[in-house]
Amino acid sequence: MTSDEADALASSPAVYVHIPFCARVCPYCDFAVVAGRDDVAGRYVDAVVAEIRSAEPWRPVESVYFGGGTPSRLEPGHLARILDAIADRHGIADGSEISLEANPEDIDTQRAGDLIAAGFNRISFGVQSLDDRVLVSLGRRHTPPAALSAVRSARDAGFANVSADLIFGAPGETDESWQQSVSSALASEVDHVSCYALTVEKGTELHRRILAGAPAPDGDVQADRWETADRLLGEAGMARYEVSNWSRPGFECRYNLTVWAQGEYEAYGLGAHGFRDGVRTRNLRHLDTYLETVESGKRPLAGTETLSEWDAELDRLFVGLRRAVGVAHGPGTRAFLGDPDGVRLLEAGVVADTGDRLVVVNPLLTDWVDRVVLSLRGWEEPAGADIV
Ligand code: SF4
Repeated sequence: MTSDEADALASSPAVYVHIPFCARVCPYCDFAVVAGRDDVAGRYVDAVVAEIRSAEPWRPVESVYFGGGTPSRLEPGHLARILDAIADRHGIADGSEISLEANPEDIDTQRAGDLIAAGFNRISFGVQSLDDRVLVSLGRRHTPPAALSAVRSARDAGFANVSADLIFGAPGETDESWQQSVSSALASEVDHVSCYALTVEKGTELHRRILAGAPAPDGDVQADRWETADRLLGEAGMARYEVSNWSRPGFECRYNLTVWAQGEYEAYGLGAHGFRDGVRTRNLRHLDTYLETVESGKRPLAGTETLSEWDAELDRLFVGLRRAVGVAHGPGTRAFLGDPDGVRLLEAGVVADTGDRLVVVNPLLTDWVDRVVLSLRGWEEPAGADIV
């Protein structure tokens, strides 16, 4: 994907829908999720549909992403109702990417076919690992054969765009088992792979275990695992287009690229975050409060933030520098390259100035880049500054 193609997605409107239901809450998860509440699934779908129907109309969207939680826990008919509401309210452009996150244990060929009939054309499996011990330590219920079988079922049913998410650095993982996970995912012939480092979020079961003495993920080990993934995926013909995402050419996730290009996206459902007309929105995160708010005819907002021009510019760097193509020069990159820490990152080869773009050369050090960008919040660009 060229930088022009990636940047063009800034004008590609998108929709995110959050489905919070999970079989149980995994020990590392801090998303807006609920377990044991499937009894309100129908009510939740009604609420999301009502939220969509009361949104400001928009131009036809070009990507829709159902994330969670576990969207595949909902009946395809329920998911189709939500898609129909989006099509009615905003329109869905021909050729749009309609993506669904799925847990492997929910998908067989019949179910995958029903999801295609409902309107989905991309499916992203939470495979996480293809090592039994690691899956157990992550609290996942599926087995490696079940994950591979789900990928096959999706293909057999006709999904032409299949992705697998993997997690590295979990307890029980070894160099060999990580290599095996990546190689097996590749052997399943998925089109796209995401590899995320296990992170410890406050308030999670994993955090409590570590406070009680369990070993924390090791940053050096995780860096090695990322490099292993980058090498294996690259050798298999996949290109890394973002710090944690690799794909066959043409199979980059359009929705995520829109977000990273600072494009606009409406967001519906529990805890969903959106960005439209320069305003960030954040929905309520408590399920019953969300339901009651929508049912009483109100918008379920927990907060909004209107971005100043400068904050919007820094956000452009924050999300855009995660992409392999980096970001086009503008006031933010000039500030970055005028900051002593930014200069150090340039001199150390962590970032590069290609003349018209700023690019992260060493994605393993993106955290350092993020820190510089965040430190620029409140920084005023001097009048007439032309540092590049
Ligand atoms: S399945 Fe995914 S969203 Fe659900 S609890 Fe586990 S990690 Fe969180």
